[in-house]
Amino acid sequence: MHNRKGTGGDIMNNKVLFISFDSLRSDYVAGPNKKVNLPNLDSLCKNGVFFKNTIVQVPLTVPSHTSMFTGMYPFNHGIRDQVVRTNYHTPTIFDILKYKDFKILGFSDVDLLKDLWFFNWNYSGECNLKEIKSKLKEIKNQNFFIFIHYWGTHTPYQVKLPPKNIKDIISRFILVFSSLRKWSNLLGKISTLFWLYRVNRIREMVKNGDNNIVEIIKEGYIKSIKEADKFVGDIREMLSKIGILDDTLIVITADHGESFNEHEEINSAIGNEYEHGLFLYDNVLKVPLIFYQPSKLAPAEIATPIREIDIVPTILEMLGMGEELITLNFDGCSLIPLLGKNANPKRTEFIYSEVVRKIQNKKIEKRSLRSERYKLIIDFIEDKREFYDLKKDPDELNNIYNRQKTEIALEMENILEKYRIYDKDKLERERVKSRIKKLKLIPTSSEKIS
Ligand SMILES: [Zn+2]
Repeated sequence: MHNRKGTGGDIMNNKVLFISFDSLRSDYVAGPNKKVNLPNLDSLCKNGVFFKNTIVQVPLTVPSHTSMFTGMYPFNHGIRDQVVRTNYHTPTIFDILKYKDFKILGFSDVDLLKDLWFFNWNYSGECNLKEIKSKLKEIKNQNFFIFIHYWGTHTPYQVKLPPKNIKDIISRFILVFSSLRKWSNLLGKISTLFWLYRVNRIREMVKNGDNNIVEIIKEGYIKSIKEADKFVGDIREMLSKIGILDDTLIVITADHGESFNEHEEINSAIGNEYEHGLFLYDNVLKVPLIFYQPSKLAPAEIATPIREIDIVPTILEMLGMGEELITLNFDGCSLIPLLGKNANPKRTEFIYSEVVRKIQNKKIEKRSLRSERYKLIIDFIEDKREFYDLKKDPDELNNIYNRQKTEIALEMENILEKYRIYDKDKLERERVKSRIKKLKLIPTSSEKIS
């Protein structure tokens, strides 16, 4: 890999377009559950670097994106739930690149991330092509980082429910047209109400075991992914037309996957929220991750399990900031060493994920640890343990915890216990705050030149 020089002397001409498809499962993009042709995503997987075992640290939108953009475990950045904490600030890639004179833009259809503490200063508009294109044209000669949070893949997707009453007909109408037009505040609020109505109706049908409901849901999900695929193609074409496709690193990933009730999650889900955010099975932990920039990156498919917290260090190294990574104190590390001819695809570390939050005043504390082959999930509130051999049982249907208390299970339990102790140790976590000071030590590109 080499860094190309832009027109501005020593300033590298660097551009990143980052798309997070909410709730996009890895196995629907490439793998056993992929049912349809996704020409654009397929092409990016094939011609880019595709990490097919990418594991998120929290299967929930806000804390997961926070881990994604801080490169830190949730217990270090402190955002564990769907909350916005304005009095606390852990640097994100947005802060780091803004410091490096990058133009930062964000596009989202939902308030969830738009209002988030790390995002409120750079919200640029809704996630539609026209808006993205007009902003892109303005900044095409600058270094930029564009973040697109794509919501169309989130429940209730394009699920076609059998109509029950007038509410169903209206909610279907609103879903179809909400993607086509810009909502005023009032219409936005009304559409949210109908959105909630639809989500709840689907949950009730799953709970009641209604005929074929899971199949209907999956069909709607696939339909949404096909639309997401088209969006990827449009974005690529747009970059090409503007003339910056070669200069732009496209990153595609997701904040978590989605459950189709494979583990009968609905029966133990608080408030029937079974889709994601409560459990730690691979249906919600595994997401796609693609880095696409053929002018800089040779195509590769990497099976080594990696973490969402590795994404930011990887991007920064690709932007020529590899030497500075150490001062930024990430929990994640760059994936570049996994690429190239002399790459060593073996990584020994275990991968940690969690759900530590409160729903309806009920405390939830689940943590999981995985190696390439095994996975341990501990529910510390219910004192329940699950252990899976992912090689023999990739769908995690056969809990072998009691039957097979092997050395590896005990070792993993030990390590998970250490994560937990660390989590409760506030003093140790103070080191996080020092990152803010350290950030100021990074010179801007203009300072470097002079
Ligand atoms: Zn999400």
